[in-house]
Amino acid sequence: MLKDGEKGVIRQRGKENITYAIAPHLPCGVVKPIQLRKLADVAEKYEVAELKITSAARIAIIGIPEDDVDGVWKDLDMDPGFATGLCVRSIKVCPGIEYCRLGLQDSLKMGMKLDHTYHGMVLPSKMKMGVSGCKVQCAENCIKDISLYGTQKGWTVQIGGNGSARPRLADILVEDLSFEAAEEMVGKVVDYYRENSKRERVGRMVDRLGLDTIKKALLG
Ligand code: SF4
Repeated sequence: MLKDGEKGVIRQRGKENITYAIAPHLPCGVVKPIQLRKLADVAEKYEVAELKITSAARIAIIGIPEDDVDGVWKDLDMDPGFATGLCVRSIKVCPGIEYCRLGLQDSLKMGMKLDHTYHGMVLPSKMKMGVSGCKVQCAENCIKDISLYGTQKGWTVQIGGNGSARPRLADILVEDLSFEAAEEMVGKVVDYYRENSKRERVGRMVDRLGLDTIKKALLG
């Protein structure tokens, strides 16, 4: 039996005839027609009945028997998404200025940069990020550990949101940053979290240390 994360799988329900889901990494949920075709072709080849679009904007092939896992990955020729474990799991991103008429900042460009740097980075607990092009926050910033949204004046950085059984809404850390300064601030938050977390989510760390303490440390 494979463990979660081993060979990029997520184990599904059941004790007998165990099957697995796999979800390739699709940075920011952007997918090309050729990738979609390949996912469908591989699913058909292995007689998988359904695919599931996940909350992290991935496309999971579900119901794969263990014996087929290696073959599915080989045929897909894609990297696995980090769907489990203590790491940066997903960077959820809205269409932003590129495609949405309400967009004020380039969320896709920011999201791709963050994905490149942080996706899969090992941390004291799991982390989710979100990037939205305006304060409507379609990437669900309010329940992301670290998130950014765009305004006329630049980027607002929020910290400490999470869903889960004990949900918490994010707090605003700093506003009106340039693209580069916002990207740098995410790095500072990640470093601070790595040094100060007691294996808790960012929101629990904020509750324990206090937002003002963290602001003082990060903003001076
Ligand atoms: S957050 Fe704003 S820019 Fe992004 S999709 Fe929603 S409305 Fe459009």
